[in-house]
Amino acid sequence: MRPYVFINSAMSADGKISSSLRRQVRISGAEDLRRVDRLRAESDAVMVGVGTVLADDPKLRVKSEILRAWRLESGKPENPWRIVVDSKARTPCSAKVLGDVCILAVSRAANPERLDMLSEKCEVLVCGEEQVDLRALFEMLYARGIRKVMVEGGGTLNWSLIEHGLVDEICVFVGGLVIGGGDAPTLVDGAGFRDEFQKLELISVEPMDDGVLLKWRVLRSA
Ligand code: NAP
Repeated sequence: MRPYVFINSAMSADGKISSSLRRQVRISGAEDLRRVDRLRAESDAVMVGVGTVLADDPKLRVKSEILRAWRLESGKPENPWRIVVDSKARTPCSAKVLGDVCILAVSRAANPERLDMLSEKCEVLVCGEEQVDLRALFEMLYARGIRKVMVEGGGTLNWSLIEHGLVDEICVFVGGLVIGGGDAPTLVDGAGFRDEFQKLELISVEPMDDGVLLKWRVLRSA
């Protein structure tokens, strides 16, 4: 058993989620940022790859006080679990994502000294030999009562999750800008499919800020 998993991302009109400098680019407008905060508040966990932690140093917490209060009233922790997928424990000890209610998912290849340091800042789960075994990780999360996971990138983690059939829905805000660059990260990077492409079913299209919000259901092959 695994949780319901959805990817939420913001990309430019040409499909980039950052520039070739791999630094955070403001793609969303105010309305989309409020929507993302609501989605976080409604999720049991928010997940990113270590590439996003190294590039953006995100906090991954719910920004709205009202939404945090709503979570507490509903008997949930103030913020959803923050999960970093980080096989070799490369997350810096100063990363803003660390703290209470944070899980670092590592593989057996992680350096034990780094694990000792990081385990003082968050919980550490070991799953997988060289790389984090994402299916096993989701089974562990499900066993802890986590039922809804919001994945906030980046393109490498998104690819692995889709490749392994672990994503149920993709929400993308497409902003009114062009970033360009052959090596700028896209919504889904990794090796990519050569044939037998992953099929999606369109759920909704909604104009938002200077762009459009697209929601897709990920179809399972029969
Ligand atoms: P990423 O997808 O965040 O993280 C990838 C890393 O996760 C891998 O290099 C790998 O490093 C680790 N990992 C561990 N187990 C894995 C597994 N089973 N499958 C895949 N990865 C695994 O990094 P990224 O692709 O470099 O993306 C970062 C970029 O995306 C940044 O430029 C950031 O600004 C951008 N971004 C944009 C948005 C947006 O919505 N616009 C959102 C997030 C990020 P190890 O092997 O060392 O573990």
